[in-house]
Amino acid sequence: MLLRPWRNIPSRCLSSLTSTYSVPPKVAIVGGGPAGFYSAQYLLKNMPDGHVDMYEKYPVPFGLVRFGVAPDHPEVKNVIHQFTAMAKSTPYFRFFGGVTVGATLSVSELLSNYDAVILAYGSAGDRLLGIAGETGPNVLSAREFVGWYNGLPENVALNMDLSCTSAVVIGQGNVALDVARILLTPPDLLAQTDITAHALLQLRESKIRDVYVVGRRGPIQVAFTIKEFRELTKLQDVNTVLRQEDIQQLVDAAGTFPARRKRLMELMVKSGQRKLQTGDNIRNCHLRFLLSPRKIVKADNTIYAVNFQKNKLEIPTDMDSVVTSTEETEAIPCGLVIRSIGYKAEQIDKSLPFDTIKHIIKNEHGRVLTHPGLYCSGWIKRGPEGVILTTMNDAYETVELLLDDLKTGRLKWSLERKTGAEAILPLLRSRDCDPVTFSEWEAIDKEEVARGNLVGKPREKSVDVAEMIGVAKGIQLSKVLFHDALNENLDEVKENKETKSQ
Ligand SMILES: Cc1cc2nc3c(=O)[nH]c(=O)nc-3n(C[C@H](O)[C@H](O)[C@H](O)COP(=O)(O)OP(=O)(O)OC[C@H]3O[C@@H](n4cnc5c(N)ncnc54)[C@H](O)[C@@H]3O)c2cc1C
Repeated sequence: MLLRPWRNIPSRCLSSLTSTYSVPPKVAIVGGGPAGFYSAQYLLKNMPDGHVDMYEKYPVPFGLVRFGVAPDHPEVKNVIHQFTAMAKSTPYFRFFGGVTVGATLSVSELLSNYDAVILAYGSAGDRLLGIAGETGPNVLSAREFVGWYNGLPENVALNMDLSCTSAVVIGQGNVALDVARILLTPPDLLAQTDITAHALLQLRESKIRDVYVVGRRGPIQVAFTIKEFRELTKLQDVNTVLRQEDIQQLVDAAGTFPARRKRLMELMVKSGQRKLQTGDNIRNCHLRFLLSPRKIVKADNTIYAVNFQKNKLEIPTDMDSVVTSTEETEAIPCGLVIRSIGYKAEQIDKSLPFDTIKHIIKNEHGRVLTHPGLYCSGWIKRGPEGVILTTMNDAYETVELLLDDLKTGRLKWSLERKTGAEAILPLLRSRDCDPVTFSEWEAIDKEEVARGNLVGKPREKSVDVAEMIGVAKGIQLSKVLFHDALNENLDEVKENKETKSQ
């Protein structure tokens, strides 16, 4: 019997759709993150014998759940179990990892061979501040830094030096707090998560004691949420530092805000008023407001400070108040700068209608009007904002439209039998691409979990694409590839055990 782990999803179109087609529809999904998986789940729920093929750039699935969500948020990653159950429960879902659409394969090739194509390839680029000094060593985007600690292959060898004592994080959303938390968390705690071995090693050597999380707006307008802020306030050996004037502003205004916001403001006040811990092991997270970066001050590629222009708000208690700059400036000394001002999608295929301001595929609720049969879902549809739950709802909206189009005949899918992966796979092989299937990914997964067990972690991620493919395809590779960092961490674990037992 096939398991249907997604049986709780409403099946609005099920009866009507199954009764109207003789040839099961074939749908390709580009991207194996939450938007791709939720789209697949909802499609298969509503057209149980339709075919859904997922093409993913990396040999491993799950997008930002693997490469974005912080290692100390294991509960968020539980969504992977749901996606895995779906993938394994039906032969009508297939995963093809290691296929970059827009490079190895074009969107038009997919459109010619499938009844519909859903683009769910997320936002993998960076926004820039546009200020002097923004390029060069130790100025990073949060995307690169997050990719580094989460094992995104292209960010593993990040040009970063943590021997300075303070860092500035520009931006005050949840990703900024993730970045600050990883920089400040005692490494022994991180060692129990799935943080990558190379990141853990470098963080163990880090000299950073002060992290400044800086926003252009005021303390009332912060974009982070209470859950993430509470985590920061509970970090062992870390002070959360707010200035007295900011605390006072929060105290004065909290009573006038709706309950949710009020709770966040009160927690900011409470943690700002807490007595500061002292000692050599203590680190500080400073929240600073009303500052816009103007220049990263450096000499010979060494960063000394970020120069900021001070801002003021027209109405300090208004969430959407206009921000204006003043004449005043301030320099925050630091040796590392991480800008956390948002992700940005890329146009993977020149034929796609791309909104260069919002950095999304131009669409109407997920339909790409210029290309019949083309849809989009997730961050590439609405921009790089929102949590996994938002992405799920968004994927359902797109699939509802696709199903409607199949049902109403707007999509002329039943007229010709599409070949789907049967045509695409030979094409890929002719281009030296042998995709990783879902069961091959499970071999990688098994290996990662086994290697994690060696060092007391839930998994030790592979960070090398060649190695991932080697493990997936059962090719014997030199263990050296599964990096020296793992061995060094093993030594560290052994040393800790020995010290404790003495
Ligand atoms: C740092 C960070 C932390 C987060 N933490 C949380 C959290 O704690 N809780 C929470 O609920 N949400 C969190 N989120 C938000 C959540 O990750 C997103 O809502 C969600 O991942 C968006 O899903 P998506 O499928 O649109 O994009 P993605 O997750 O980015 O998936 C897109 C997929 O497409 C693939 N792809 C890209 N280009 C191509 C191509 N050319 N061809 C084929 N495949 C391609 C990518 O490799 C990727 O697998 C976080 C986001 C970030 C950035």
